[in-house]
Amino acid sequence: MDAQVLLKALVDKELLKQDQADKLIQESSAGQKSAEDLIYENRLVDETEVAKTKSQLLKIPYKKISADTLDKEFLKVIPIETAQTYKIIPISRTENMLVVGMVNPDDQKAQDALRFVAKQLHSNLGVYLISHGDLDAVLKKYSPFKDEVEAAVRALGTRPGRKVGQAIQLEEGTAVTEEAPVIKIVASTLREAVNVGASDIHVEPEREKFRIRFRISGDLQTISEMPIELHQPIVSRIKVMSKLKLDENRVPQDGRFRSQVSGRDIDFRIATFPTPAGEKVAIRVLDSSTGLRTLNELGYSDRNVKIAMEAIERPFGTVVITGPTGSGKSTTLYSLMQILNQPDVNIVSLEDPVEYYIDGANQSQVRPEIGYDFAAGLRQILRQDPDVIMVGEVRDVETATLTIHAALTGHIVLTTLHTNNVVGVVPRLLDLKVDAFLLPPAVNLMVAQRLLSKLCPKCKKPEPAPGNIAEMIKKELEKLPADVRAELKSKEPYKIYRSAGCASCKNKGTAGRMAISELLKMTPQLSEIISAGPTENRILEEAKRQGMVTMRQDGIIKALDGLLGMEEVLRETAELT
Ligand SMILES: [Zn+2]
Repeated sequence: MDAQVLLKALVDKELLKQDQADKLIQESSAGQKSAEDLIYENRLVDETEVAKTKSQLLKIPYKKISADTLDKEFLKVIPIETAQTYKIIPISRTENMLVVGMVNPDDQKAQDALRFVAKQLHSNLGVYLISHGDLDAVLKKYSPFKDEVEAAVRALGTRPGRKVGQAIQLEEGTAVTEEAPVIKIVASTLREAVNVGASDIHVEPEREKFRIRFRISGDLQTISEMPIELHQPIVSRIKVMSKLKLDENRVPQDGRFRSQVSGRDIDFRIATFPTPAGEKVAIRVLDSSTGLRTLNELGYSDRNVKIAMEAIERPFGTVVITGPTGSGKSTTLYSLMQILNQPDVNIVSLEDPVEYYIDGANQSQVRPEIGYDFAAGLRQILRQDPDVIMVGEVRDVETATLTIHAALTGHIVLTTLHTNNVVGVVPRLLDLKVDAFLLPPAVNLMVAQRLLSKLCPKCKKPEPAPGNIAEMIKKELEKLPADVRAELKSKEPYKIYRSAGCASCKNKGTAGRMAISELLKMTPQLSEIISAGPTENRILEEAKRQGMVTMRQDGIIKALDGLLGMEEVLRETAELT
């Protein structure tokens, strides 16, 4: 709110002196902070009185909040970033009413953010004005991890948002006292990441602070912000743990370490990256107990699992999995490797990087920087008498040639490519200079997949599909093979599912991800098309003849079953047909 108005009211109430008010105006126009923030930080006026004064001026009722009465789960109604940025906290919620506390109820951006939250919850709004202190107390409650970090930062002699004073570096024994809190922050961060199921941790420096973000179910979320002075000690600690060169911060480095967290073995894969503001660190969290999943668990339909099994039970040949980065290709590779992993089978892999360790398989990591790339590795591997070869990715002519050669000489080969859909695999391999006549005997199966967000099972609700969507569903399903179509007859009239968000899914409406997939088999018919000059259209016709369920159709079926959101499926697969 207008600082002049507030300050005048505080002066009128004799809570503030005129000269203090004048000084505040000067200070706030010189710096980044509002007069109100300065009053709070310097404790010039009792914060309750400030809130009450604002309440009178804005004609919005004031409420005293006690953080202890608010349930931690309930707080998640408003995401922490929104709460922090816009200074809003939830107070109570009934079926169609969300009551919130705001420090600045007249802030236009806060109002917009709040309207967005209310819309997602299909809720009306009630607003109280709350004090800065009450807001801070509630924010601390959002995550116990925040408390731990704050305690550690305090022990280091600083507070979030403040610069580290020189004093601590002058004291004797600083090295020891300085390190302990940093070690604790890093440990807390790693533990928190594992506990919330984050797949990646990002430590990102900015000019005056640095932030830690987690990727959870595909979304990046800011977990913590700390003063920039803590950045280098934290990066150094991570480098020590992963045996990286401490004094090298101009070139990217990568490393890894394994640690026990909550009784599980977790692999952390570290990559540093120099930026003008300092080193950025990305940490991939690899939970070996949850990493390996079956095809069914990944979301493969029974029909597609059967096709995949037939392909890897053949004596030799390649299974090519394709999709853009982040489509879950390597997870699918691992589930196939796991099926093939038998005592009498020699599995050798070439990976970049090794993401999960499979007992009994001989996994190796390519190191292009020392000349051990996929091609060099493949030549080595073929001397290891393997039965099954996994090649992380085919991206150059030499690797493509060697991979096809390996399949033709009696091996089962599992690999990945980058193409949009399954129809693009043959043209891509021809681009990589594989001879057309080698493809039919060397390739058994082509698989394309995407990962989509699963609807939260706790809050999803069916509703009739709107006319235009029902039309699109009908149009797609009409192209399905007769047997699959018959199974879907009972789904009419079509329902779609939506989830409004609940405490269990942190208001996202989604929980985890699942794959949609399409599988194209090598057949005599496809072989003929390849030798006659394959076009994507002709391959697509063959796919139809095989009764292939496309990714789009697979997704629609899963949406009709309530596993996926129909709109997301239609949007994400719009380009594929
Ligand atoms: Zn939910």
